[in-house]
Amino acid sequence: MQIIIAIDGHSSCGKSTLAKGLAKALHYAYLDTGAMYRAVTLYFLDHGVDYRDAAAVEQALKEIEIHFERIDGKNHTFLNGEDVEYKIREMRVSDLVSPVSTVSAVRRAMVAQQKAMGNRRGIVADGRDIGTVVFPDAELKIFLTADLDVRTSRRHLELASRGIDAEWDEIQENLQERDRIDSSRTDSPLRKADDAVIIDNTLLSEEDQLDKALELVRERLKAKLKH
Ligand code: C5P
Repeated sequence: MQIIIAIDGHSSCGKSTLAKGLAKALHYAYLDTGAMYRAVTLYFLDHGVDYRDAAAVEQALKEIEIHFERIDGKNHTFLNGEDVEYKIREMRVSDLVSPVSTVSAVRRAMVAQQKAMGNRRGIVADGRDIGTVVFPDAELKIFLTADLDVRTSRRHLELASRGIDAEWDEIQENLQERDRIDSSRTDSPLRKADDAVIIDNTLLSEEDQLDKALELVRERLKAKLKH
């Protein structure tokens, strides 16, 4: 028996670390929905598509194919056949992804694909609208939070480890700006689903966070067995 696990929360609070840890421990598929919005944004940047131009967006969405492949045990995002896993993490993409993600046509296209990917259970998905819009019937919904300075430092380290040089202040501004846009957009804003469990991981190690979440998974599996 398998369930759907939905993880939402602010930018850079460890959603993908937790999602990957859960997917590995449970042998579930991992769906990185943020990577999909980033891939669309990369396409717009490289093809000069203005996200405010509805006709151009509509046309571009027809030309975009996104899929994931496992390479050396890691999830890689492909845009029209090209491995863009690293490019989509660059600051130029981070700076534009939230405005692009406010566009309803973009959201409609992404959510449809995400729902299709989750048509069988055994999936961990992370993003901003997973528990509220993409998988509202997920058996386990987690809303992650963490202190802003801690989030900034984590993202700084992560980018540095990928050889991407970005200033601490620039990263913090980007996180705050994305949180602001993501939480205030009209179409599926970031918010905690009513039935989501909040985990604040400011003071938690990756291991402790994973243990907490696995405990919740066990509870939900037990509850499902009883029904
Ligand atoms: O998860 P990540 O930080 O890579 O997501 C990048 C951006 O994509 C977010 O800041 C948000 O604007 C958008 N996003 C979204 N809905 C999701 C996942 C990501 O709007 N489900």
